[in-house]
Amino acid sequence: MASMQHDESLSEEAICPICLDFFTNPVILDCGHNFCRSCISQCWEKKEINSCPECREEFPGKNLRINRALANLAGKARNFKLNRNEKESKLHCEEHQEERKLFCETDKKLICVICRDSLEHRGHRFLPVKEAAEIYKDQLKSSFDSLTEMKFEVLQTEREQKRKISEVWEQSSSLQIHITSEFSKMHQILTEKEQRLLRDLRDEEEGFLEPMEEKLREIQENLKSIEEKLTKMQKQMEQKDQLTFLKQETRLKKR
Ligand SMILES: [Zn+2]
Ligand SMILES: [Zn+2]
Ligand SMILES: [Zn+2]
Ligand SMILES: [Zn+2]
Repeated sequence: MASMQHDESLSEEAICPICLDFFTNPVILDCGHNFCRSCISQCWEKKEINSCPECREEFPGKNLRINRALANLAGKARNFKLNRNEKESKLHCEEHQEERKLFCETDKKLICVICRDSLEHRGHRFLPVKEAAEIYKDQLKSSFDSLTEMKFEVLQTEREQKRKISEVWEQSSSLQIHITSEFSKMHQILTEKEQRLLRDLRDEEEGFLEPMEEKLREIQENLKSIEEKLTKMQKQMEQKDQLTFLKQETRLKKR
């Protein structure tokens, strides 16, 4: 209660004597009195001599200093009042201006004692707010507990699922290694076989070709000697002198 009164008096400190609302952009005059900037400006617009509306002290200049501390206080007081109004409107039945002390279990809402007797709630079940809150808190607690249990189960399933996934990963990667190594072995075997076959083929080829090439050389030598003989004969045939021709002819025959 003491703090409430304290808040009330603070709220009064934060009220402008001209507009009677919380200060907006408060300024302080040299006499020490405070006003909203717009309130004192409007007040002075109409007058020839500027004077304080509270103490009548006159000011030749227009020296309006911002009062930041008071601006803060006014802001706080405004918020405080807003919050309190909100709280009060929550607690009060707007229709009957009574405190909502009951909870209608049938409609699941807060009502006042006059609401309870209205036609709208005839035959409904009511509980004092405090008891209703306890009952619903208990219900909430038990659903919280069961949900917590469920959470642990789900966590366990999550762990299990993660384990399965990593198992599949491991299997797959070991299978991959196996496949790679098996194929590299097969590649090696195939390469060796290929090399062996090519070598055998080359050996066989040589065995065939060597005698055939030998035969070809013989044929070519024979051809060469025939050609030589033919050339000589050609020269003989071209010999005009009969004696020389015969000499050569007999020499050829002797050979
Ligand atoms: Zn004002
Ligand atoms: Zn004054
Ligand atoms: Zn009511
Ligand atoms: Zn009801």
